[in-house]
Amino acid sequence: MIFNVKEGKMNKILKKLLNLQLSKISFPIEIKVSYLGEGILQLLPSVGFKKAVILSAGIHGNETAPIELLARLIASLSKNTQRLNCALLIIFGNLPAIKLGKRYIHSDMNRLFFNHNQYEKLEKSINEVQCVNLLKEAVQKFLDNISLYDNIPCYHLDMHTTIRDSYFKQFALLPHNANSYNKSFFELLFSCKLNAIVQHNSPNGTFSYYLSKHFGVQSCTIELGKAKSFGLNNLTLFQSIEFAIKSLISGDNFIKEIKKIIRWFLVVESIIKTKDNFRLNLKPEIKNFTQLKPGYIIAYDDNHIWRINNDAPWILFPNSDVAFGLRACLLLRSTTIPYFTL
Ligand SMILES: [Zn+2]
Repeated sequence: MIFNVKEGKMNKILKKLLNLQLSKISFPIEIKVSYLGEGILQLLPSVGFKKAVILSAGIHGNETAPIELLARLIASLSKNTQRLNCALLIIFGNLPAIKLGKRYIHSDMNRLFFNHNQYEKLEKSINEVQCVNLLKEAVQKFLDNISLYDNIPCYHLDMHTTIRDSYFKQFALLPHNANSYNKSFFELLFSCKLNAIVQHNSPNGTFSYYLSKHFGVQSCTIELGKAKSFGLNNLTLFQSIEFAIKSLISGDNFIKEIKKIIRWFLVVESIIKTKDNFRLNLKPEIKNFTQLKPGYIIAYDDNHIWRINNDAPWILFPNSDVAFGLRACLLLRSTTIPYFTL
């Protein structure tokens, strides 16, 4: 594997994570370690740095591939087989849900970072509200801690896996463009050898949007493939992403990738579930990025019918099992020209 870590070493880190013992992992003397909360590690090279990187996984507790990837990264840093040339914050987002192997315990955490309607309604004692607050505090602390280094770029990859299969297996979701992205951020995404990039058209409650909007972080969500249990992930599928992360944190150059192999999509519409009798008119096994025919009735409730139109026939994240007020499906437009100029 890219991080040069045997499976046993990764499993030891996972065991420490699940037993709330991340603080017992030792690192080389060249790395200054701080624990900014349960499951949150700050690693700073003692010689200084010129960029900051935030890597998060487990915002959804049952999405194990990114958790295993970060466990391998920690193992390689701990064994001094991975160079660290940046300020690094590693986050395992929802530890109680990770321990139970569940997407979440009470509420979908990745809708609560910037959605006041949802967030304000929830009790402060709810697990996901506590996790969101912990992450917000930890990120603020991390950015305060590195603020001596003025104007260094900060990159964030929030890594997930999908509930269902996808025609484009690995893809990035760029949050609504609160801040513009720089060229090196796209070089990072290209070097991940992603199959597609999707640009959101409106603010949402995701961690990546929160970091982009509030702190100007170059931030996105990355989907690595379909969600599986611990130990069942085919780790070879994530080699390009591992290699890109390795280059990012060690300061090596990214592998230049040809941009045209990536498909570009824009979110045109979010179908929001607001009624008890809301239904998605889709087969359970339908894949992300399925292209539907114009006119097709994709969803309905007792006073609204959603039809596919010519402009946005591709579907993403169909899921009728969401709370009221949350999106049950995204409708996408394919575009040949990225919305930005590199
Ligand atoms: Zn997820």
